[in-house]
Amino acid sequence: MLYLNPTYFIFVLPALLLAFYAQMKVRAAYSRYTRKANLRGITGLQAAQTLLPATGLGHVSVEGIRGELTDHYDPRSKTLRLSQGVAHVPSVAALAIVAHEIGHAQQDAQGYVPLKLRSGLVPAVQLSAWVGPILFMIGLVLNMLELAWLGVIAFAAGAVFALITLPVEFNASRRGLQLLRTYQLADGREMQEVKSVLNAAALTYVAALAQTLGTLLYYIFLLTGFGGRRRR
Ligand SMILES: [Zn+2]
Repeated sequence: MLYLNPTYFIFVLPALLLAFYAQMKVRAAYSRYTRKANLRGITGLQAAQTLLPATGLGHVSVEGIRGELTDHYDPRSKTLRLSQGVAHVPSVAALAIVAHEIGHAQQDAQGYVPLKLRSGLVPAVQLSAWVGPILFMIGLVLNMLELAWLGVIAFAAGAVFALITLPVEFNASRRGLQLLRTYQLADGREMQEVKSVLNAAALTYVAALAQTLGTLLYYIFLLTGFGGRRRR
């Protein structure tokens, strides 16, 4: 019922539109640059096999994963998982994605603090993402403001997570670009194309943060408005 409140859309709609726009940008950049061969003619897998040993990350294993744009680095198992469209296609997009993910592997190996913080927050965020709104609504319905505020605080953990994700992602892209430059896997013009793939992906994380903040502000707005009514 709370979600049907038109005020909710005022808080969340701009973020939803941004998320939609970011998704479109990512899809467009990926489909454009997955069809464009990179100059060296190397697949994502070959790029990984070149970059990992060269950067002292020989312990990282590479596996395939189903789906599209599902590529990621898993810090727990020290595994780089690449989708078919990245591992076996010699495209500009494959270079961009592999370089970014190896950026994450490098963060992990060097103990990059924001990555550690984010990994540490995962269990708390998984719990608070559903406990927060439930506590909030129960508190609101039962007129127990303290409980509702507890829900807001729990939900705010998700916003902290989305916030810490930004430096982690921007830094992985910066490292990825540096790797491509250092090991000469991309030239000047190609670097610009790689950048446009990575920037589109980065925008989705900004949109995710905006969405969480929008919802959080909406909760606070409801509570403070609610408290005002109660005092009258
Ligand atoms: Zn990333």
